Amino acid sequence: MEVDFLLIGQGLAGTVLSHRLLQNGYRVHLLDDPEPNSSSRVAAGLYNPVTGRKMVKTWEADTLFHEIEPFYSSLENLLDISCLYRKSIYRPFLNIEEQNEWMGNSSRPEFLSYLESIYTEPQIDCVKDPFGGVLLKKSGYLDIKTLLDAYASWLRERKMLTNRVYDEKALHLKNGGGVHYEGINAQAVVYTNGMAAKESTYFSWLPFSPVRGEILTIDLDFQTNKIINRGVFLIPLPGGHYKVGSTYDNIDLASGRSEKGKAEILEKLENLINLPIGLVSMHEWGIRPATRDRKPFLGKHPVHDQVYVFNGFGAKGVSLAPYFSTEMLNLLTLGKEPQKAVNINRFFKYI
Ligand SMILES: Cc1cc2nc3c(=O)[nH]c(=O)nc-3n(C[C@H](O)[C@H](O)[C@H](O)COP(=O)(O)OP(=O)(O)OC[C@H]3O[C@@H](n4cnc5c(N)ncnc54)[C@H](O)[C@@H]3O)c2cc1C
Repeated sequence: MEVDFLLIGQGLAGTVLSHRLLQNGYRVHLLDDPEPNSSSRVAAGLYNPVTGRKMVKTWEADTLFHEIEPFYSSLENLLDISCLYRKSIYRPFLNIEEQNEWMGNSSRPEFLSYLESIYTEPQIDCVKDPFGGVLLKKSGYLDIKTLLDAYASWLRERKMLTNRVYDEKALHLKNGGGVHYEGINAQAVVYTNGMAAKESTYFSWLPFSPVRGEILTIDLDFQTNKIINRGVFLIPLPGGHYKVGSTYDNIDLASGRSEKGKAEILEKLENLINLPIGLVSMHEWGIRPATRDRKPFLGKHPVHDQVYVFNGFGAKGVSLAPYFSTEMLNLLTLGKEPQKAVNINRFFKYI
């Protein structure tokens, strides 16, 4: 089989990059051994332009957020599925000081395109919002699991995906350029394999800083079309269930799903809503492929011209991957280096 690019991993990174390459006329093949606890398969898929305890605009929001909805809509059209849910995010104010701060923010030009409304009175029954809250727009969530499954079927039908474990020892780098792997010839291989890149002889030096996360699916006797976010997020799902999460633990990476994680999420949820919490129907966990400086890893291996990486999307893969897939396309096809903040050459000194 002759292709332009061989991608290792069909999580969110492999899915987004391969779609970008196909849209631009390149031939791809992906290898993936689907893993139920992979970061992409458990993620809530939230994209939120204003994040963090201090509510700051997310890094490069003005650049990244233009790309998100058109990109995932193009995948929805291709696959004839729904997986992108555009929803406002309501964030209750904690106190009057926060309310005042947001009243001030509301006139600042950098926030204008992300602010739908500011409320100084309680808005949603059953939500603890005595000081009102802020309603954000250009936000929502991507049902990543539905996307990955539908895209995998689409790729398989076209013989562009092999569901098998990739064994790096079988990868042959050809002298004149290009790679060979079990009957596949490609100009280059791209590691889109999340935390597994740490095990690669080519990329083990990259400073990943993995973060374990847990997330619940619960029943609630409550109707809203907004995502509520304060301490935890509460995402209304189409079937009447809610996703709630998530935890962040960069010390204990081994516990999988834990009673401690579940208790932490439920306690934060009790601080957010005035409702009895129904059945917890799912309790999932995964390891986010986060990086020490919280920026993705894009680039070409410093020695091997045919080996690349597109990875390190941490807690924000849904918002980062579409825009950076264009920078990766430009590197792979035109040799144009990605911007410094995400380029793996920022870590060449560690090799
Ligand atoms: C609890 C939790 C909540 C999250 N919530 C959000 C959120 O709300 N919004 C957001 O944007 N992000 C969220 N994330 C982060 C998001 O999941 C990641 O940014 C993104 O999905 C990473 O995708 P990836 O493709 O790089 O890695 P992965 O999802 O890890 O995919 C790597 C793929 O490579 C495959 N693979 C690995 N090794 C091999 C091998 N040897 N052979 C074959 N295949 C292999 C794996 O099976 C997998 O399919 C969350 C993560 C967690 C854990």
